[in-house]
Amino acid sequence: MLAAAVAQVADLRREPQPLRALLESARRWAIPRVDRASAALRADLPWLERVLSAVDPVLSLNTVRARVVEVRDETADVKSYVLAPNAHFGSFRPGAYVSVRVVIDGQVHTRSYSLSAPPSADGLITITVKRVPGGRVSNWLADTIAVGAVLELSAAQGQFLLPEPTPAKMLMISAGSGITPLMSMLRWLVTSGASSEIVFMHFAQSPADVIFQRELTELAARHPCLRVVLCVERPDAEWSSAAGRFSLPLLEQAAPDFRVYDTFLCGPSGFMQAVMQTLERAEADLSKLRFERFNSEFNAADFLEQSQVVRFTRTGAESISNRAATILQQAESLGVRIDSSCRAGHCGTCRCVKKRGVVVDVTTGRASGAGEEFIYPCVSLARGSVELDL
Ligand SMILES: Cc1cc2nc3c(=O)[nH]c(=O)nc-3n(C[C@H](O)[C@H](O)[C@H](O)COP(=O)(O)OP(=O)(O)OC[C@H]3O[C@@H](n4cnc5c(N)ncnc54)[C@H](O)[C@@H]3O)c2cc1C
Repeated sequence: MLAAAVAQVADLRREPQPLRALLESARRWAIPRVDRASAALRADLPWLERVLSAVDPVLSLNTVRARVVEVRDETADVKSYVLAPNAHFGSFRPGAYVSVRVVIDGQVHTRSYSLSAPPSADGLITITVKRVPGGRVSNWLADTIAVGAVLELSAAQGQFLLPEPTPAKMLMISAGSGITPLMSMLRWLVTSGASSEIVFMHFAQSPADVIFQRELTELAARHPCLRVVLCVERPDAEWSSAAGRFSLPLLEQAAPDFRVYDTFLCGPSGFMQAVMQTLERAEADLSKLRFERFNSEFNAADFLEQSQVVRFTRTGAESISNRAATILQQAESLGVRIDSSCRAGHCGTCRCVKKRGVVVDVTTGRASGAGEEFIYPCVSLARGSVELDL
Protein backbone atom coordinates (compact mmCIF):
# COMPACT_ATOMS: atom_id res chain seq x y z
CA MET A 1 0.00 0.00 0.00
CA LEU A 2 2.73 2.38 1.11
CA ALA A 3 4.80 1.50 -1.94
CA ALA A 4 1.82 2.15 -4.22
CA ALA A 5 1.14 5.51 -2.57
CA VAL A 6 4.77 6.55 -2.93
CA ALA A 7 4.73 5.48 -6.56
CA GLN A 8 1.68 7.65 -7.14
CA VAL A 9 3.33 10.70 -5.58
CA ALA A 10 6.52 9.92 -7.50
CA ASP A 11 4.65 9.88 -10.82
CA LEU A 12 5.27 13.51 -11.76
CA ARG A 13 3.42 13.30 -15.08
CA ARG A 14 0.10 13.78 -13.24
CA GLU A 15 1.07 17.18 -11.79
CA PRO A 16 0.55 20.60 -13.46
CA GLN A 17 3.65 22.04 -15.20
CA PRO A 18 5.15 24.41 -12.51
CA LEU A 19 4.57 21.91 -9.73
CA ARG A 20 6.03 19.17 -11.90
CA ALA A 21 9.25 21.17 -12.41
CA LEU A 22 9.49 21.85 -8.68
CA LEU A 23 8.90 18.20 -7.78
CA GLU A 24 11.41 17.11 -10.41
CA SER A 25 14.17 19.29 -8.95
CA ALA A 26 13.28 18.13 -5.41
CA ARG A 27 13.49 14.58 -6.66
CA ARG A 28 16.88 15.17 -8.34
CA TRP A 29 18.15 16.63 -5.07
CA ALA A 30 16.72 13.84 -2.90
CA ILE A 31 17.44 10.65 -4.89
CA PRO A 32 21.27 10.68 -4.55
CA ARG A 33 20.91 11.34 -0.83
CA VAL A 34 18.39 8.53 -0.37
CA ASP A 35 20.70 6.31 -2.44
CA ARG A 36 23.71 6.97 -0.20
CA ALA A 37 21.62 6.54 2.95
CA SER A 38 20.18 3.22 1.66
CA ALA A 39 23.66 1.91 0.86
CA ALA A 40 24.91 2.91 4.31
CA LEU A 41 21.92 1.22 5.99
CA ARG A 42 22.45 -2.16 4.24
CA ALA A 43 19.40 -3.54 6.06
CA ASP A 44 17.16 -6.47 5.16
CA LEU A 45 13.79 -4.71 5.28
CA PRO A 46 11.56 -5.97 2.44
CA TRP A 47 8.91 -3.26 2.96
CA LEU A 48 11.49 -0.47 2.75
CA GLU A 49 13.06 -2.11 -0.31
CA ARG A 50 9.61 -2.01 -1.99
CA VAL A 51 9.17 1.67 -1.09
CA LEU A 52 12.60 2.54 -2.47
CA SER A 53 11.96 0.64 -5.73
CA ALA A 54 8.66 2.48 -6.13
CA VAL A 55 10.39 5.84 -5.72
CA ASP A 56 13.17 4.90 -8.15
CA PRO A 57 13.99 1.37 -9.36
CA VAL A 58 17.72 2.06 -9.07
CA LEU A 59 17.45 2.51 -5.29
CA SER A 60 18.08 -0.52 -3.09
CA LEU A 61 19.09 -1.42 0.46
CA ASN A 62 21.46 -4.17 -0.56
CA THR A 63 21.70 -4.66 -4.33
CA VAL A 64 23.86 -2.98 -6.94
CA ARG A 65 21.57 -1.54 -9.60
CA ALA A 66 22.47 0.78 -12.43
CA ARG A 67 20.50 3.01 -14.79
CA VAL A 68 21.43 2.94 -18.47
CA VAL A 69 22.32 6.52 -19.41
CA GLU A 70 23.65 5.93 -22.92
CA VAL A 71 23.65 3.14 -25.50
CA ARG A 72 26.28 3.36 -28.28
CA ASP A 73 26.61 1.25 -31.40
CA GLU A 74 30.29 0.27 -31.65
CA THR A 75 29.96 -2.06 -34.66
CA ALA A 76 26.99 -3.79 -36.33
CA ASP A 77 26.85 -6.40 -33.55
CA VAL A 78 28.48 -4.66 -30.58
CA LYS A 79 26.93 -2.08 -28.26
CA SER A 80 28.30 -0.17 -25.29
CA TYR A 81 25.99 0.52 -22.36
CA VAL A 82 26.99 3.45 -20.14
CA LEU A 83 25.58 2.88 -16.66
CA ALA A 84 25.06 5.06 -13.60
CA PRO A 85 25.26 2.61 -10.69
CA ASN A 86 23.74 3.21 -7.27
CA ALA A 87 25.86 3.81 -4.18
CA HIS A 88 26.39 0.06 -3.54
CA PHE A 89 28.81 -0.11 -6.46
CA GLY A 90 32.27 0.42 -5.01
CA SER A 91 35.53 1.24 -6.70
CA PHE A 92 37.28 -0.91 -9.30
CA ARG A 93 40.56 -1.28 -11.13
CA PRO A 94 40.88 -1.38 -14.93
CA GLY A 95 40.42 -4.96 -16.15
CA ALA A 96 37.64 -5.85 -13.69
CA TYR A 97 34.28 -7.30 -14.71
CA VAL A 98 30.73 -7.24 -13.35
CA SER A 99 28.05 -9.93 -13.40
CA VAL A 100 24.78 -8.77 -14.89
CA ARG A 101 21.60 -10.50 -13.67
CA VAL A 102 18.61 -10.31 -15.99
CA VAL A 103 15.19 -11.93 -16.06
CA ILE A 104 14.11 -13.11 -19.52
CA ASP A 105 10.70 -14.76 -19.87
CA GLY A 106 10.62 -15.32 -16.11
CA GLN A 107 14.02 -17.03 -16.04
CA VAL A 108 17.05 -15.55 -14.29
CA HIS A 109 20.31 -15.41 -16.28
CA THR A 110 23.65 -14.11 -15.04
CA ARG A 111 26.52 -13.21 -17.37
CA SER A 112 29.85 -11.52 -16.80
CA TYR A 113 30.94 -8.41 -18.71
CA SER A 114 34.28 -6.64 -18.41
CA LEU A 115 34.13 -2.93 -17.72
CA SER A 116 35.37 -1.32 -20.93
CA ALA A 117 35.86 2.19 -19.54
CA PRO A 118 38.26 2.97 -16.68
CA PRO A 119 37.20 4.40 -13.29
CA SER A 120 36.02 7.98 -13.78
CA ALA A 121 35.21 10.95 -11.58
CA ASP A 122 31.52 10.95 -12.59
CA GLY A 123 31.10 7.38 -11.30
CA LEU A 124 29.73 6.09 -14.63
CA ILE A 125 30.73 2.61 -15.78
CA THR A 126 30.51 1.00 -19.23
CA ILE A 127 30.08 -2.53 -20.52
CA THR A 128 30.49 -3.42 -24.19
CA VAL A 129 28.61 -6.49 -25.37
CA LYS A 130 28.90 -8.42 -28.63
CA ARG A 131 25.93 -10.39 -29.91
CA VAL A 132 26.61 -14.12 -29.79
CA PRO A 133 24.62 -16.16 -32.37
CA GLY A 134 21.89 -17.97 -30.44
CA GLY A 135 23.00 -16.34 -27.17
CA ARG A 136 20.29 -15.46 -24.64
CA VAL A 137 21.62 -12.46 -22.76
CA SER A 138 23.84 -10.67 -25.31
CA ASN A 139 20.96 -10.54 -27.83
CA TRP A 140 18.36 -9.66 -25.21
CA LEU A 141 20.49 -6.70 -24.07
CA ALA A 142 20.94 -5.52 -27.68
CA ASP A 143 17.24 -5.88 -28.54
CA THR A 144 15.67 -4.66 -25.29
CA ILE A 145 17.89 -2.35 -23.30
CA ALA A 146 17.57 1.38 -23.96
CA VAL A 147 18.38 4.56 -22.05
CA GLY A 148 16.46 4.62 -18.76
CA ALA A 149 16.43 0.85 -18.22
CA VAL A 150 17.72 -0.43 -14.87
CA LEU A 151 20.06 -3.44 -14.64
CA GLU A 152 21.07 -5.49 -11.60
CA LEU A 153 24.82 -6.01 -11.27
CA SER A 154 27.44 -7.46 -8.97
CA ALA A 155 30.24 -5.37 -7.55
CA ALA A 156 33.34 -5.23 -9.74
CA GLN A 157 35.42 -8.39 -9.47
CA GLY A 158 38.17 -10.41 -11.15
CA GLN A 159 41.90 -11.02 -11.12
CA PHE A 160 42.73 -9.66 -14.58
CA LEU A 161 43.67 -6.22 -13.32
CA LEU A 162 46.16 -3.58 -14.32
CA PRO A 163 49.06 -4.14 -11.90
CA GLU A 164 50.37 -1.47 -9.57
CA PRO A 165 52.95 -0.13 -10.18
CA THR A 166 52.32 -0.09 -13.90
CA PRO A 167 54.84 -2.24 -15.84
CA ALA A 168 57.33 -0.32 -17.98
CA LYS A 169 56.61 -2.33 -21.16
CA MET A 170 53.20 -3.76 -21.90
CA LEU A 171 51.90 -5.88 -24.73
CA MET A 172 48.11 -6.07 -24.99
CA ILE A 173 46.70 -8.68 -27.34
CA SER A 174 42.99 -9.13 -27.96
CA ALA A 175 40.48 -10.43 -30.47
CA GLY A 176 36.75 -9.73 -30.90
CA SER A 177 34.96 -8.68 -27.71
CA GLY A 178 38.13 -9.60 -25.76
CA ILE A 179 39.22 -6.02 -26.35
CA THR A 180 36.98 -4.75 -23.51
CA PRO A 181 39.14 -5.21 -20.38
CA LEU A 182 42.25 -4.14 -22.32
CA MET A 183 40.50 -1.00 -23.54
CA SER A 184 39.71 -0.10 -19.94
CA MET A 185 43.41 -0.52 -19.05
CA LEU A 186 44.58 1.43 -22.11
CA ARG A 187 42.16 4.32 -21.54
CA TRP A 188 43.26 4.48 -17.91
CA LEU A 189 46.96 4.48 -18.85
CA VAL A 190 46.62 7.28 -21.38
CA THR A 191 44.40 9.48 -19.19
CA SER A 192 46.58 9.02 -16.10
CA GLY A 193 49.67 10.03 -18.12
CA ALA A 194 51.55 6.77 -17.47
CA SER A 195 54.91 6.64 -19.24
CA SER A 196 54.76 2.90 -20.03
CA GLU A 197 55.61 1.70 -23.50
CA ILE A 198 52.50 -0.06 -24.85
CA VAL A 199 52.00 -2.23 -27.91
CA PHE A 200 48.28 -2.83 -28.45
CA MET A 201 47.43 -5.60 -30.95
CA HIS A 202 43.81 -6.27 -31.83
CA PHE A 203 42.40 -8.89 -34.20
CA ALA A 204 38.99 -8.92 -35.89
CA GLN A 205 37.21 -10.61 -38.79
CA SER A 206 36.85 -7.54 -41.03
CA PRO A 207 37.52 -3.76 -40.86
CA ALA A 208 33.86 -3.17 -39.90
CA ASP A 209 34.27 -5.51 -36.91
CA VAL A 210 37.12 -3.61 -35.24
CA ILE A 211 35.64 -2.32 -31.98
CA PHE A 212 36.88 1.17 -30.90
CA GLN A 213 38.78 1.51 -34.19
CA ARG A 214 38.63 5.30 -34.48
CA GLU A 215 39.54 5.89 -30.84
CA LEU A 216 42.51 3.49 -31.07
CA THR A 217 43.84 5.21 -34.17
CA GLU A 218 43.48 8.63 -32.54
CA LEU A 219 45.14 7.50 -29.33
CA ALA A 220 48.09 6.06 -31.26
CA ALA A 221 48.50 9.36 -33.14
CA ARG A 222 48.51 11.34 -29.87
CA HIS A 223 50.70 9.10 -27.70
CA PRO A 224 54.25 8.36 -28.92
CA CYS A 225 54.62 5.56 -26.31
CA LEU A 226 51.62 3.69 -27.78
CA ARG A 227 51.79 1.50 -30.86
CA VAL A 228 48.48 0.14 -32.16
CA VAL A 229 48.44 -2.79 -34.58
CA LEU A 230 44.99 -3.66 -35.95
CA CYS A 231 44.79 -6.87 -37.91
CA VAL A 232 41.81 -8.28 -39.81
CA GLU A 233 41.27 -11.63 -41.44
CA ARG A 234 39.29 -10.28 -44.40
CA PRO A 235 40.68 -6.84 -45.37
CA ASP A 236 38.89 -4.63 -47.90
CA ALA A 237 40.49 -2.36 -50.53
CA GLU A 238 40.86 0.57 -48.09
CA TRP A 239 42.42 -1.39 -45.24
CA SER A 240 45.99 -0.21 -44.69
CA SER A 241 46.87 -2.03 -41.47
CA ALA A 242 47.83 -5.71 -40.97
CA ALA A 243 45.94 -8.67 -42.44
CA GLY A 244 45.71 -12.34 -41.51
CA ARG A 245 45.68 -14.18 -38.20
CA PHE A 246 47.93 -13.89 -35.16
CA SER A 247 51.42 -15.20 -35.99
CA LEU A 248 54.97 -15.05 -34.66
CA PRO A 249 56.26 -12.88 -37.58
CA LEU A 250 53.47 -10.36 -36.96
CA LEU A 251 54.24 -10.32 -33.23
CA GLU A 252 57.97 -9.87 -33.89
CA GLN A 253 57.21 -6.99 -36.21
CA ALA A 254 54.88 -5.27 -33.72
CA ALA A 255 57.01 -5.81 -30.61
CA PRO A 256 60.49 -7.15 -31.45
CA ASP A 257 61.41 -7.64 -27.77
CA PHE A 258 58.00 -9.14 -26.83
CA ARG A 259 59.70 -11.84 -24.71
CA VAL A 260 60.34 -9.36 -21.89
CA TYR A 261 56.99 -7.52 -22.02
CA ASP A 262 54.25 -7.84 -19.43
CA THR A 263 51.58 -9.34 -21.67
CA PHE A 264 47.79 -9.05 -21.29
CA LEU A 265 45.62 -11.36 -23.37
CA CYS A 266 41.88 -11.72 -23.91
CA GLY A 267 39.79 -13.17 -26.73
CA PRO A 268 38.01 -16.29 -27.96
CA SER A 269 39.44 -19.63 -26.71
CA GLY A 270 41.04 -20.68 -30.05
CA PHE A 271 42.74 -17.30 -30.36
CA MET A 272 44.07 -17.37 -26.78
CA GLN A 273 45.38 -20.89 -27.36
CA ALA A 274 47.24 -19.79 -30.53
CA VAL A 275 48.81 -16.80 -28.73
CA MET A 276 49.84 -18.83 -25.68
CA GLN A 277 51.37 -21.61 -27.77
CA THR A 278 53.28 -19.06 -29.86
CA LEU A 279 54.61 -17.35 -26.72
CA GLU A 280 55.61 -20.68 -25.16
CA ARG A 281 57.39 -21.91 -28.30
CA ALA A 282 59.18 -18.56 -28.65
CA GLU A 283 60.35 -18.93 -25.01
CA ALA A 284 58.71 -15.72 -23.82
CA ASP A 285 58.52 -15.45 -20.04
CA LEU A 286 55.00 -16.79 -19.41
CA SER A 287 55.03 -15.69 -15.78
CA LYS A 288 54.57 -12.18 -17.24
CA LEU A 289 51.42 -13.27 -19.09
CA ARG A 290 48.03 -12.37 -17.63
CA PHE A 291 44.82 -13.41 -19.32
CA GLU A 292 41.05 -13.24 -18.98
CA ARG A 293 38.90 -16.12 -20.14
CA PHE A 294 35.39 -15.37 -21.35
CA ASN A 295 34.77 -19.11 -21.60
CA SER A 296 35.08 -21.09 -18.35
CA GLU A 297 35.98 -24.29 -20.27
CA PHE A 298 39.25 -22.74 -21.47
CA ASN A 299 42.17 -24.43 -19.73
CA ALA A 300 45.76 -23.52 -20.64
CA ALA A 301 46.98 -26.80 -19.09
CA ASP A 302 45.24 -28.70 -21.93
CA PHE A 303 47.61 -27.46 -24.63
CA LEU A 304 50.77 -25.91 -23.13
CA GLU A 305 53.66 -28.35 -23.49
CA GLN A 306 56.50 -27.15 -21.27
CA SER A 307 54.88 -24.85 -18.74
CA GLN A 308 53.46 -25.17 -15.25
CA VAL A 309 49.87 -24.02 -14.83
CA VAL A 310 48.66 -23.28 -11.29
CA ARG A 311 44.96 -22.68 -10.69
CA PHE A 312 43.84 -21.00 -7.49
CA THR A 313 40.34 -22.42 -7.30
CA ARG A 314 38.81 -20.05 -4.73
CA THR A 315 39.96 -16.81 -6.35
CA GLY A 316 39.67 -18.12 -9.92
CA ALA A 317 43.20 -16.87 -10.66
CA GLU A 318 45.51 -18.87 -12.89
CA SER A 319 49.28 -18.58 -13.22
CA ILE A 320 51.46 -19.96 -16.00
CA SER A 321 55.20 -20.26 -15.72
CA ASN A 322 57.94 -21.64 -17.92
CA ARG A 323 60.68 -20.55 -15.52
CA ALA A 324 61.71 -22.12 -12.20
CA ALA A 325 59.21 -20.15 -10.10
CA THR A 326 57.81 -21.61 -6.88
CA ILE A 327 54.07 -21.70 -6.39
CA LEU A 328 54.44 -18.90 -3.81
CA GLN A 329 56.25 -16.72 -6.38
CA GLN A 330 53.58 -17.50 -8.98
CA ALA A 331 50.83 -16.54 -6.52
CA GLU A 332 52.62 -13.31 -5.64
CA SER A 333 53.05 -12.29 -9.28
CA LEU A 334 49.26 -12.62 -9.70
CA GLY A 335 48.40 -10.82 -6.47
CA VAL A 336 46.99 -13.98 -4.81
CA ARG A 337 47.70 -13.65 -1.11
CA ILE A 338 49.49 -16.48 0.69
CA ASP A 339 50.85 -15.68 4.17
CA SER A 340 54.50 -16.71 4.32
CA SER A 341 57.52 -16.18 6.50
CA CYS A 342 60.72 -18.25 6.14
CA ARG A 343 60.32 -18.98 2.39
CA ALA A 344 62.45 -22.09 2.93
CA GLY A 345 59.90 -24.77 3.83
CA HIS A 346 60.57 -24.69 7.60
CA CYS A 347 57.97 -22.56 9.39
CA GLY A 348 54.77 -23.87 7.77
CA THR A 349 53.14 -20.40 7.54
CA CYS A 350 52.35 -20.85 3.85
CA ARG A 351 51.00 -24.41 4.21
CA CYS A 352 47.92 -24.90 2.00
CA VAL A 353 45.87 -27.64 0.37
CA LYS A 354 46.77 -28.86 -3.09
CA LYS A 355 43.58 -30.27 -4.63
CA ARG A 356 45.24 -32.12 -7.49
CA GLY A 357 48.42 -32.31 -9.58
CA VAL A 358 52.06 -33.06 -8.81
CA VAL A 359 54.49 -30.64 -7.13
CA VAL A 360 58.23 -31.06 -6.63
CA ASP A 361 59.90 -29.96 -3.37
CA VAL A 362 62.92 -27.88 -4.48
CA THR A 363 64.83 -28.61 -1.27
CA THR A 364 64.61 -32.42 -1.53
CA GLY A 365 63.78 -32.99 -5.23
CA ARG A 366 60.93 -35.28 -4.13
CA ALA A 367 57.72 -35.32 -6.16
CA SER A 368 54.35 -35.35 -4.39
CA GLY A 369 51.42 -37.62 -5.17
CA ALA A 370 48.75 -36.42 -7.61
CA GLY A 371 45.86 -36.17 -5.12
CA GLU A 372 44.74 -33.87 -2.32
CA GLU A 373 47.36 -33.07 0.33
CA PHE A 374 49.05 -30.24 2.24
CA ILE A 375 52.03 -28.55 0.54
CA TYR A 376 54.42 -25.69 1.30
CA PRO A 377 54.11 -23.32 -1.70
CA CYS A 378 57.39 -21.54 -0.83
CA VAL A 379 59.42 -24.64 -1.80
CA SER A 380 57.05 -26.26 -4.30
CA LEU A 381 57.40 -26.21 -8.06
CA ALA A 382 54.37 -27.30 -10.07
CA ARG A 383 54.91 -30.13 -12.51
CA GLY A 384 52.40 -29.62 -15.33
CA SER A 385 48.98 -28.59 -14.03
CA VAL A 386 48.18 -28.07 -10.33
CA GLU A 387 45.06 -26.87 -8.49
CA LEU A 388 45.26 -25.20 -5.09
CA ASP A 389 42.46 -24.50 -2.61
CA LEU A 390 43.26 -20.78 -2.44
C1 LIG B 1 35.05 -12.54 -17.00
C2 LIG B 1 34.19 -12.45 -18.27
C3 LIG B 1 34.11 -11.22 -18.92
C4 LIG B 1 33.36 -11.12 -20.10
N1 LIG B 1 33.30 -9.93 -20.73
C5 LIG B 1 32.60 -9.79 -21.88
C6 LIG B 1 32.56 -8.55 -22.57
O1 LIG B 1 33.15 -7.56 -22.15
N2 LIG B 1 31.83 -8.49 -23.73
C7 LIG B 1 31.16 -9.56 -24.23
O2 LIG B 1 30.52 -9.44 -25.28
N3 LIG B 1 31.20 -10.77 -23.60
C8 LIG B 1 31.88 -10.91 -22.43
N4 LIG B 1 31.89 -12.11 -21.77
C9 LIG B 1 31.07 -13.22 -22.29
C10 LIG B 1 29.65 -13.11 -21.71
O3 LIG B 1 29.67 -13.37 -20.32
C11 LIG B 1 28.66 -14.12 -22.32
O4 LIG B 1 29.22 -15.40 -22.24
C12 LIG B 1 28.28 -13.79 -23.74
O5 LIG B 1 27.67 -12.50 -23.83
C13 LIG B 1 27.30 -14.84 -24.29
O6 LIG B 1 26.18 -14.87 -23.47
P1 LIG B 1 24.73 -15.21 -24.07
O7 LIG B 1 23.79 -15.32 -22.94
O8 LIG B 1 24.40 -14.25 -25.17
O9 LIG B 1 24.98 -16.61 -24.74
P2 LIG B 1 24.54 -18.04 -24.13
O10 LIG B 1 23.06 -18.16 -24.09
O11 LIG B 1 25.29 -18.26 -22.87
O12 LIG B 1 25.09 -18.97 -25.29
C14 LIG B 1 26.48 -18.99 -25.60
C15 LIG B 1 26.67 -19.94 -26.78
O13 LIG B 1 26.18 -21.22 -26.47
C16 LIG B 1 25.21 -21.61 -27.42
N5 LIG B 1 24.14 -22.30 -26.69
C17 LIG B 1 23.30 -21.75 -25.79
N6 LIG B 1 22.46 -22.70 -25.33
C18 LIG B 1 22.80 -23.85 -25.94
C19 LIG B 1 22.34 -25.19 -25.90
N7 LIG B 1 21.32 -25.54 -25.08
N8 LIG B 1 22.93 -26.13 -26.68
C20 LIG B 1 23.95 -25.79 -27.47
N9 LIG B 1 24.46 -24.54 -27.57
C21 LIG B 1 23.87 -23.60 -26.83
C22 LIG B 1 24.70 -20.35 -28.07
O14 LIG B 1 24.24 -20.58 -29.38
C23 LIG B 1 25.92 -19.51 -28.04
O15 LIG B 1 26.73 -19.78 -29.15
C24 LIG B 1 32.66 -12.25 -20.60
C25 LIG B 1 32.76 -13.47 -19.92
C26 LIG B 1 33.52 -13.56 -18.77
C27 LIG B 1 33.59 -14.89 -18.04
